[in-house]
Amino acid sequence: MDLVKKAVALLKQGEAIVLPTETVYGLAADASNESALKKVYQIKNRPSFNPLISHYADIEEIKKDVILDSRAIKIFEHFSPGPITVVLNKTTSSRISDLATAGLKTAAVRIPNKKITLEILREFAGPIAAPSANISTKLSPTNKSHVEKSIGNQVKLIIDGGEAEHGLESTIIDLSSTKAILLRFGTITSQEIESVIKEEVFLKDYDGIIKAPGMMLKHYSPKCKLRLDTANPQKNEALLAFGEDQIPTGFAETINLSPKKDLAEVAKKLFKSIHELEDKNYDSIAVMPIPNIGIGLAINDRLKRASNT
Ligand code: AMP
Ligand code: MG
Repeated sequence: MDLVKKAVALLKQGEAIVLPTETVYGLAADASNESALKKVYQIKNRPSFNPLISHYADIEEIKKDVILDSRAIKIFEHFSPGPITVVLNKTTSSRISDLATAGLKTAAVRIPNKKITLEILREFAGPIAAPSANISTKLSPTNKSHVEKSIGNQVKLIIDGGEAEHGLESTIIDLSSTKAILLRFGTITSQEIESVIKEEVFLKDYDGIIKAPGMMLKHYSPKCKLRLDTANPQKNEALLAFGEDQIPTGFAETINLSPKKDLAEVAKKLFKSIHELEDKNYDSIAVMPIPNIGIGLAINDRLKRASNT
């Protein structure tokens, strides 16, 4: 049987499988099927208050499950397929299960930019929940071997799509109320969104209410300690470097995230490099400062959470 048909058949049977996307690899299941969703939460050991993103092949399918306003349509037309997720109010006949949305009246939806996954979504013709294919709070997977080392023995199919193109989770923008609120930094920046919707984008806690229930402080964590300080190298410590100047010495190994200071390259290599270093059993990883602008906001957000103990 061809791979697309096999994947769709497993999803229809309520199985959880792993799909590649342009952000990270996703643990996919039918978002309308409670027992399939339970498998996802259980495999990931994900708390049930942390809602999932539903994935689609096109806007027409999305419209069946959430109410699109003109801003949401502009965003999908401009950025999709691509690494942007929009939180919108569910329609009364929404197929997305309450389990996928952690009981909320809103749902997060996106169109991933990966050919085989889009073919599967098109053939499936319904919402597919696909959180990162790893154990909750651990490092996200950007290739098939990362998935194999954490949850490989718990899924019936892992589709290999090579190295994830962006390497960081999607940007999340909440358009379920009148104000546009950025819930998660990603490779698409709030300035890019503002230039498309022609209105201001607010940051998550602009009014003090936490709108993203699953935004955990400790997340993306490797097995070893991650330190955002390179001044005093520790025993058996590896370094993630940035740029070509003033690279600190005294580390057991150095991986340079981008000698030419390209933030998209840093994003793509970040999780992969940390996976590589945690597999070598260093006691800790130190990271050089990354500029906090553009994609740097998303990179520093992940690094900060990864360093929380
Ligand atoms: P992940 O699946 O790990 O990429 O995480 C998806 C993230 O999307 C969750 O951690 C939530 O923070 C966010 N999210 C999903 N659905 C909603 C929703 N309805 N409202 C707000 N945030 C959401
Ligand atoms: Mg995740």
